[in-house]
Amino acid sequence: MAKILITGGAGYIGSHTVRLMSEKGYEIIVLDNLVYGHREAILNPEIELVVGDLGDTELVGRLFEYHDIEAVIHFAAYAFVGESVTDPEKYYQNNIAAPLNLIAVMRKYGCNNFIFSSTCATYGNPEYAPLDENHPQNPINPYGQSKLMLEKILKDYHKAYNFNYAFLRYFNASGASPDGLIGEDHNPETHLIPLILDAVNGDRPHITVFGTDYETQDGTCVRDYIHVDDLATAHIAALEHLKAGKPPVICNLGTGNGVSVKEMIAAVEEVTGKQVPVVYGERRAGDPPFLFANATHAKAVLGWEAKYKDVKDIISHAWTWKTGARGGKY
Ligand code: UDP
Repeated sequence: MAKILITGGAGYIGSHTVRLMSEKGYEIIVLDNLVYGHREAILNPEIELVVGDLGDTELVGRLFEYHDIEAVIHFAAYAFVGESVTDPEKYYQNNIAAPLNLIAVMRKYGCNNFIFSSTCATYGNPEYAPLDENHPQNPINPYGQSKLMLEKILKDYHKAYNFNYAFLRYFNASGASPDGLIGEDHNPETHLIPLILDAVNGDRPHITVFGTDYETQDGTCVRDYIHVDDLATAHIAALEHLKAGKPPVICNLGTGNGVSVKEMIAAVEEVTGKQVPVVYGERRAGDPPFLFANATHAKAVLGWEAKYKDVKDIISHAWTWKTGARGGKY
């Protein structure tokens, strides 16, 4: 049986996808340098984890030489927006140069199916919402820029080499496996839901709401929070689409629901039954006021839509992870 190479499979979204795919019987190899990923996030001990860098052409070459790989799901990337501003080289090297090595090896071995973790950060400041896939792409930080550049390169590769791709533009990845066995563990943590849950749990003194004077329903930023397992099922749908020889696909992955920071805090209080200690602070630089998806294209082309449309389900699974045996840390 041909195999699927999953880069960054020990990371947050990668590990949830690895778990669902292994439960569905896919043959998987994971390549991860474990800089931000966690070995423990790969639950199934039968899955082969190769620890190494995408930029290591020799290692990647050996993977393709010894395994029959029919597609790559490419999660491995750096994704801290602030760091991308202070250290863009790290982002352009890791998010563009390294995957170009991988893709060169793929082409050498005749593997032409590439599923790419893109992002709504490629759109930059929204001109309208919900955002569809034709919204102009003007990223406002090197992270978004690096993702957009790889999209453009892949479009050229498709035209010239018939290299096939799926671009999955995530909105706000969140939540955890419903059983709480794997979940989100970033260091440093910058994302809203785990920070609120830390505040509820007493691991942080409070959550700071970044800005209350946005032109939104309650003055706080609005985002589209998409469950990590929903992202995982979208990757499987995109994989099957490419394996069937269908043309490239570009999809937003969101629920279509905009949730404000204040609404999120209220939902956490409802799910956990505890009060969230809140401090109201200044806007964070580079935060657009609202970002939520028009996700209808993914349904039309991949037959995919989010299963977890209520943010309370997302919070409840993240809370199970946080209060479980690992305490939300690997
Ligand atoms: N946010 C906040 N306080 C925090 C972290 C985030 O108010 O400590 C807000 C942030 O301004 C944004 C939303 O929560 O509007 C989601 O932020 P996150 O960093 O999780 O994701 P992003 O949308 O930046 O990718």
